[in-house]
Amino acid sequence: MQEDQLLELDARHAWHPYSATQNPDPVYPVRRAQGCELELTDGRRLIDGMASWWCVIHGYNHPRLNAAAKAQLEDMAHVMFGGLTHAPAMGLVERLVRLTPAPLERVFLCDSGSVAVEIALKMAMQYWQARGETGKTRFLALRRGYHGDTYHAMSVCDPVTGMHRLFSGSLPRQLFAPAPAPAFGQPCTDADIAEFAQLLETHAHELAAVILEPIVQGAGGMRFYAAEYLTRVRALCDQHRVLLIADEIATGFGRTGRLFACEHAGISPDIMTLGKALTGGYLTSAATLTTEAVAETISAGDPGVFMHGPTFMGNPLACAIANASIDLLLEDGRESKGEGGWQANIGRIESRLRTGLTPCRDLPGVAEVRVLGAIGVVEMREPVAMRAIQRRFVDQGVWVRPFGRLVYLMPPFVIQDAELDCLCAAMHAVLAA
Ligand code: PMP
Repeated sequence: MQEDQLLELDARHAWHPYSATQNPDPVYPVRRAQGCELELTDGRRLIDGMASWWCVIHGYNHPRLNAAAKAQLEDMAHVMFGGLTHAPAMGLVERLVRLTPAPLERVFLCDSGSVAVEIALKMAMQYWQARGETGKTRFLALRRGYHGDTYHAMSVCDPVTGMHRLFSGSLPRQLFAPAPAPAFGQPCTDADIAEFAQLLETHAHELAAVILEPIVQGAGGMRFYAAEYLTRVRALCDQHRVLLIADEIATGFGRTGRLFACEHAGISPDIMTLGKALTGGYLTSAATLTTEAVAETISAGDPGVFMHGPTFMGNPLACAIANASIDLLLEDGRESKGEGGWQANIGRIESRLRTGLTPCRDLPGVAEVRVLGAIGVVEMREPVAMRAIQRRFVDQGVWVRPFGRLVYLMPPFVIQDAELDCLCAAMHAVLAA
């Protein structure tokens, strides 16, 4: 398809994420993607600073993931998971149980992050229903939190600064504690957790679970908070008999320098959601994990089953690619990662981003620069003019998608030092202009 026809069809019929159809944000036609580069239809090549919203950790068009997909296609692309089981899905549940913190032992597979969150919320509710504590149906979430765009997930997103204000009147009414104040690396004092603790204690009788994004609050502000905050949340949840749901959809699979962000605090949630990087960004797939205790309780209660069953759960193609992606991540010392395996590689990206982005601190309009793992954030004092900034980045040969006051990098893990330097140099040049 020619570029002008593509753009004409897009303008006439397509609807992009978080966008209007009248006077829409410009879109850039991409022809193919290879490694850390997106190639536009006019031949321009852009270094990808976004990993397509956290998920393309091994880069695009990876031979190992392609091979896994092709091999699986020969056997079966899809079969229903009701009443059937298969090796790709069992390979995946075994890997997820082995790699996530104990005692997460049961895996419910599904097809997108938001759905994994819906499932987590329903599991928590059904758990208390099964125990006869029918009043425990609400959730305590954090301000600046983000958990997806479906209905119940929207209800636990920040209701004030969040994206779903419009629906707030008809959403389930949840409780919200302040966003964690202490930054990553800092201690968490009694005062820092006091309001959370108070809300939990007062409302424990009606709370099914606390839900939060561990360590990194993503779409709600790209903030990195203290691991000790999480440790304290875990202890308070135990004390007040409230489940803890860790939404690791963005942070899972190494992005923060640990395989799962909960590991920074050495805690295990009762329920964990995974998505995004699960398939290395190849196919839509997600998972909700829980403990045997939660699963057994739900199964012993009324109606004796967990009431959820997405058509595409356990999709063999997605599972086969996820297995290959996880194996690829965990292999030590492979060529693109150098010595020391994936963790050393994330350390390399982190220090390169830190060095590269630090000069942005001195630019007018910049409020803060922060880096954690393979995430680099420049927070501006005022919201940025998205269209103009995006065009300038593209002119610099870089793909970044700012939102609000945030301009941030979350590149594929296979990104090379020279490419990281280009991303950081472009950030400085564009923000200076
Ligand atoms: N939770 C978190 C923490 C996320 O970052 C996202 C995606 N931005 C979601 C849930 C929703 O995932 P999906 O877009 O796959 O529905």
